[in-house]
Amino acid sequence: MPSNLPQSANGFPPTIDEGRPASAPARWNEVRSQEHLVSGTVSFLLHLLAVLLLGFVFSISLEDEDAPRDLVMVIEEVETELTESGDSLLPTIQGGSPVEEEPQGVPVTIAMPTATPVAWQDAENRTAIDQATTRTAILSDQITLPTGAATGGGVEGRSGGLKGQLLANRGGTPESEEAVARGLRWLAAHQEQNGRLRFDHTQGPCRGHCRHPGSEACSTASTALAILPFLGAGQTHQVGEHREVVEKGLLFLAKQMHLESRGGDFRTPAGNLYGQGIATLALCEAYAMSGDEELRKFAQAGIDFIVAAQHEAGGWRYEPGEPGDTTVTGWQLMALKSARLAGLQVPQSAIYRAAHFLDSVAVKEGNWRGVLYGYQTRNPRQATTAIALYSRMLTGWHRSRSKLAQGVGYLADLEPSADDMYFNYYATMVLHHFDGPQWPAWNEKMRERLIAEQATEGHEAGSWYYPHEHSEVGGRLYNTCMALMTLEVYYRYMPLYGGAPTMALGGPPSAP
Ligand SMILES: [Zn+2]
Repeated sequence: MPSNLPQSANGFPPTIDEGRPASAPARWNEVRSQEHLVSGTVSFLLHLLAVLLLGFVFSISLEDEDAPRDLVMVIEEVETELTESGDSLLPTIQGGSPVEEEPQGVPVTIAMPTATPVAWQDAENRTAIDQATTRTAILSDQITLPTGAATGGGVEGRSGGLKGQLLANRGGTPESEEAVARGLRWLAAHQEQNGRLRFDHTQGPCRGHCRHPGSEACSTASTALAILPFLGAGQTHQVGEHREVVEKGLLFLAKQMHLESRGGDFRTPAGNLYGQGIATLALCEAYAMSGDEELRKFAQAGIDFIVAAQHEAGGWRYEPGEPGDTTVTGWQLMALKSARLAGLQVPQSAIYRAAHFLDSVAVKEGNWRGVLYGYQTRNPRQATTAIALYSRMLTGWHRSRSKLAQGVGYLADLEPSADDMYFNYYATMVLHHFDGPQWPAWNEKMRERLIAEQATEGHEAGSWYYPHEHSEVGGRLYNTCMALMTLEVYYRYMPLYGGAPTMALGGPPSAP
């Protein structure tokens, strides 16, 4: 059975010991380049100095030997004494300290260079994309798989020249990138001092200036969902205009984790395995992008808990061991995929079992057998079909699989939904990564709709909201995150089937 998720750990060190605290003091930045060392030093000094010099306004400058520049930190106000020792910005691996006891942070202005500007590339030149996809294949030990195997999916395309090439080649525009930038600024403006973002954004700095708060209380899920679009745009806690937002968000997530015998549990307070999957995905991506070893511990612990929480029939639902549903399972699979590509330990058996769960919710008879999918049963729905088809790609379906082509055709015929961003996000992922003849028309319609329907006035400027049953739960924050990740589709993950020749899709799908 071909799979894009190999067993080996690609030479990365083994995972942490379960149930024991990290032996050495945690260090937020254990990074490789001088530039990263400088940014890590800034982060460390920021917190240490906040403890020592409460209420003072001062500035310092640091010089990078290779690339001299000034980093000016201005601590404007300190509301409460920080309790961290200065050893680390991260809690120990036990995690789980209550949010409400955390200090609200220190308003800080740091003059830093922004992320590397996007260098738009010739759309006809696919060389760099193909080379990068090949690198991903080598990293994931998949180089011997036949053409059309799902060897891509990495995070290499999120910045630099490769991002520009992917944007041009896969259908992004300067206008779509401007919409992404506006959306990220809206999210940044709605982050609380402790790093949290809530579905009910009215409880944060917004103070109700934006309409349509969500009802879901799990702030692990909302914070993680909001950090994903920053990571998708190439921003981490080390680089980018919003690096502080990402850092505070990751810190908030890390502090929510309870380490127990099964791994790192992100479900509390008021959470479930939705938040587990999304938070773990965010930490895996941040680790993959930064190489920050401190993040690896949290990402691996989150993965371990996901593996332990899998139902015996292969799916995941709200609580560990519960029979699965397609949407919660989709988030866990995305986390497992990102973990695999980052070199974390993911047992192949978890992927196989997840594929069995997908079998159990697939339509079993007629022309749509194995093409359409239900939520917990075989009764098909549009959104669950989109999630399941993307999950099929992640579990290793070959691009030439007839059921995949048939499913892509089904989604393309539905066209982008006017109000369901959950469907739109997953369907866009499926059509983009399949890269068939339906993609250009789908992309133009989806992209232009999102650009046109982004809020432009007041505090809501940069956000999205569509009335839908999901929106009552997730509110404007959820809609904005899904819209942003939909507009980042060109580069957020390397093409899953990158480098494969485009196949003809003229005839009816053959029997499996
Ligand atoms: Zn607002």
